[in-house]
Amino acid sequence: MRYSQERLYAMNSFAYRIKRIAALTLALLTLAALTACGEKPDPADPSASVIDVADDPASPVTAAPTAVPTPTPEPTPVPTDTPEPTATPRPSQAANPSYQGRTIYLTFDDGPYKYTDQVLDILDQYNIKATFFTVGNFVKAYPEQAKHIVERGHVLGCHSQTHEMANLYHGTDGFKKELNQWRETVKSVFGYDAGAYVMRFPGGTTNSTIGGRKNRGPYVEAANSLGYKAFDWNVCLNDRWLAGNKDGLPLNEYFWKSYLDSLSMYKNIEPLVFLIHDTEPESVKILPRVIEDLIAKGFKFGVCTDLDDNYLM
Ligand SMILES: [Zn+2]
Repeated sequence: MRYSQERLYAMNSFAYRIKRIAALTLALLTLAALTACGEKPDPADPSASVIDVADDPASPVTAAPTAVPTPTPEPTPVPTDTPEPTATPRPSQAANPSYQGRTIYLTFDDGPYKYTDQVLDILDQYNIKATFFTVGNFVKAYPEQAKHIVERGHVLGCHSQTHEMANLYHGTDGFKKELNQWRETVKSVFGYDAGAYVMRFPGGTTNSTIGGRKNRGPYVEAANSLGYKAFDWNVCLNDRWLAGNKDGLPLNEYFWKSYLDSLSMYKNIEPLVFLIHDTEPESVKILPRVIEDLIAKGFKFGVCTDLDDNYLM
């Protein structure tokens, strides 16, 4: 079929107009998408509006568990609403953005406790080794669970003797005393020094009793002077910060969401250190699901004694 010159011109002109409209629409859609993305805070950006709960005076303050004055079969577990919150990441720690082949460090705090054996069974099932930051008074109260941690190839780390903030953060003498008491407790329970030289500050190094990041220096130096490397965390279940559950989700959903959110928020940080409490039955319940998700994402698992330096938020 042949078209007249006029008809060809009209057809080209029409096609041109359609193309212009399509291009304009595409440009508008792209602009809208970029604007939406741009409003999300960048976790690697220190100016991003990530709330540092540890330094937030409005948040619950004390992270101290009820101490175990004498060994009893059922020491009172650490109060569930204690903030051991996740702090703001620092940009200097940015690293590999993908998960495949990376190592994540599972750490269990505040035990040993009556659920610790269940955690050990789950870890065995997936052939994973982890770090347990234990409280000396609980090592005394649950000696069998403490021994199982070591016998089954995990790292027995220090989380102070009493977990009492008042004992820990009113001068480095009291802080050092707590670390030394923990080691003496481990020696007496095991009959030898089964404790590793890795530790976690109760409440983290940025907790409000210590006075936040700006005041932690002497305490970190004190830990290091006794041979310990100190480890904060970035990934967590928020299983000691139920106040963060603003939507009133069932615990398993809140923990799952906290896990996904924190992993996503800190995905560029190295190392990824995951805080879980082996004193919380709901945390133990969700553990297999979390581990399977980490495996599916391509993670390997390590222990804190493999790390060469402190990890401080
Ligand atoms: Zn703790």
